Amino acid sequence: MKKTGFVYDERYLLHDTGAAHPESPERLIAIYNHLVKTGMLDKLVKIEAEPANKRWIESVHNIHYITKFEEACIYGLTEFEHPDNAICRETSDVAYLAVGGVLKAIDLVMSGEIDRAFCAIRPPGHHAEVSAPMGFCYFNNVAIGARYLQRNHGIKRVAIIDFDVHHGNGTQHIFDNDPTVLYYSIHEHPSFAYPGTGRDFEEGIGEGDGFTKNSPVLPGRGDEEYRRLMMQDLVPAIKKFEPEFILLSAGFDAHIDDMMSGTNLTTDGYDFVTQVILNLVNRYTNGKVVSVLEGGYNLEMLPVLVENHIKMLCELRSF
Ligand SMILES: [Zn+2]
Repeated sequence: MKKTGFVYDERYLLHDTGAAHPESPERLIAIYNHLVKTGMLDKLVKIEAEPANKRWIESVHNIHYITKFEEACIYGLTEFEHPDNAICRETSDVAYLAVGGVLKAIDLVMSGEIDRAFCAIRPPGHHAEVSAPMGFCYFNNVAIGARYLQRNHGIKRVAIIDFDVHHGNGTQHIFDNDPTVLYYSIHEHPSFAYPGTGRDFEEGIGEGDGFTKNSPVLPGRGDEEYRRLMMQDLVPAIKKFEPEFILLSAGFDAHIDDMMSGTNLTTDGYDFVTQVILNLVNRYTNGKVVSVLEGGYNLEMLPVLVENHIKMLCELRSF
């Protein structure tokens, strides 16, 4: 069994998005309660989050953007630049704590105290751009994690694998011209889904050309297409890049029962996705991986999919 860390903090529930917003505190409550009920939580190393130091937020985001976000919360606004991005007074503090949870998990994996970790955090991050919130995201948790690995832990090459059903436009753009971070995303085709980026010809810019790889999936497609695209696109990209560390943008909204997408990935299909990634992790990064929650909105399915994913991280389950 792999020693697996679990980042969770009740303060993540304080980011109040209002009634009827899909990115609700109930998502984390459902995950946490399910892990308690199934006994899975007892098998994990609990990691307490601390707010990230602002210098790490600034490693990705523009200082004026950070200030604007903090002020919007202080002023008591209920949305930030777009109705999707619901905020409350606590949101910016919670966003610092979400990043901090990821950085703590990275520290513990790098020190060898744990083998790997899952971060049950919110708000999510992969749509957040350098200077703009998008799609329920304010700080790009995983992008900041990649910079932290490089600047605080001396890691040269970081791969980010994003299997949320939406393309991580923010993460892609942050590292567009950077050959030291490989960004791979499998997501619903941009002609049919938010945010409208992530076509297969988007492969990076300048020095970063060839360090972005996108696998768009047409609506209605599921397990077979995921299997085909991951073997065809992800596996060779990782093999060529030889990452020293892998971060996951783990979204569970591609599931057939998740109303946020038109893709039909099944529960077994999600097991396959995790297994392919873990095979790469074991082969290239000495087993080191930190998985970070992004989307997933079906409150019945999300906890089950997260449990399965974590069990596979622990090597208590395999595909
Ligand atoms: Zn999503």
